[in-house]
Amino acid sequence: MKTVYVDNNATTAIAPEVLGVMQPYLTSDYFNPSSMYDAARSSAEAIESARRTVASCLGGIDPDQIIFTGSATESNNAALFGTVQANPERRHVITTTIEHPSVLEIGKELERRGQEVTFLSVDHNGELVLDDYVRALRSDTLLVSIMMANNETGVCYPVAELARIAKETDPGIVVHTDATQALGKLPVDLQGELQHVDLLSFSGHKIHAPKGVGSLFVRRGTRWRPFILGGHQEKGRRAGTENVPYIVGLAKACELAIAGVADEQSRVRNMRDRLQKALVERIPAVEVNGKQAAVRLPNTLNLAFHGIEGEAILFELSRHGICASSGSACTSGTLDPSHVLKAMQVPFTAIHGSVRISLSRYNNEDDIERIIEVLPDIIARLRKLSPYWNDERNCLEI
Ligand code: PMP
Repeated sequence: MKTVYVDNNATTAIAPEVLGVMQPYLTSDYFNPSSMYDAARSSAEAIESARRTVASCLGGIDPDQIIFTGSATESNNAALFGTVQANPERRHVITTTIEHPSVLEIGKELERRGQEVTFLSVDHNGELVLDDYVRALRSDTLLVSIMMANNETGVCYPVAELARIAKETDPGIVVHTDATQALGKLPVDLQGELQHVDLLSFSGHKIHAPKGVGSLFVRRGTRWRPFILGGHQEKGRRAGTENVPYIVGLAKACELAIAGVADEQSRVRNMRDRLQKALVERIPAVEVNGKQAAVRLPNTLNLAFHGIEGEAILFELSRHGICASSGSACTSGTLDPSHVLKAMQVPFTAIHGSVRISLSRYNNEDDIERIIEVLPDIIARLRKLSPYWNDERNCLEI
């Protein structure tokens, strides 16, 4: 049975071109880039070349502002804790209720450590209310951290505008964005649209590089302190021997992602839209979460089926070779609905029945056909077993 992989917001396949450029640094060029002998020089040069590539992919910025990290989670930790540590005089942080846990949990930790944190909520479309944001900005606001695109719903946030408003209110406010799901799907231009963003995080494994490598952009002049201390690597801004092959792979992946933003993403969007239309036509009582949002990632489809469990749907999809994921996280034996869908007030009859399908440039029309062929039957079968589903009338009954 052919595997249909549609869980690309969780992780992506490594691109063959990425593996190709990594290979020498996994085998013959294994040297520590800090070593003095000639043989190590190519490793050190490879890192600097990767830095230039990433910088050019983010709008042609000065490469010195790029720091390589071990993940977007690390980048987010470094961004938030590094800003708070460098600015003890300001106490207020603004973020949202729909951030990835690698920002959300830091927000909660900062509260425990005495910061005041505003968690902005979202409306039914998953969008922020601009007035709420403007009202939240205060004279002691230190940091705004709002993601570019949500990993569960694909809803995108107007970070360029939010950053501009923050700087107009007070140029001292530091603006961070988690661009992990946006890079490669939306333009990320730190010289242009995003010129008011000070810190930006992203990860390799969402753009066809390996897991375990990421990056943090720190705009020159930002009041920020390094988060991981130790050796002098990354100009003292992130200690630890550099992961040369992964850094080289990350840069190649950025290059490929940026090259494809327009063409590849419009092909991906067409596939997603066709899938969405076909499933909504064939399956009753389904919500497309984030459908009304002004901007949604072209690759993401988050569906909530009334009256059934997302986990059961995923299990059935998996039996057909289809790898998708659920909006709800299974934590320590209790099924908690997704914090994102909860924030969007998805009806309780549907919040447990959510499934996220996320495509990449490696998906094709056959994959879409296969899902259209299989999913409506799965939903119908599961609903037959649901106490909340009236099979005769083909509708939810509670
Ligand atoms: N932010 C977002 C929006 C994400 O989707 C993810 C990965 N799910 C992360 C951060 C964390 O990335 P990493 O796995 O590289 O730590």
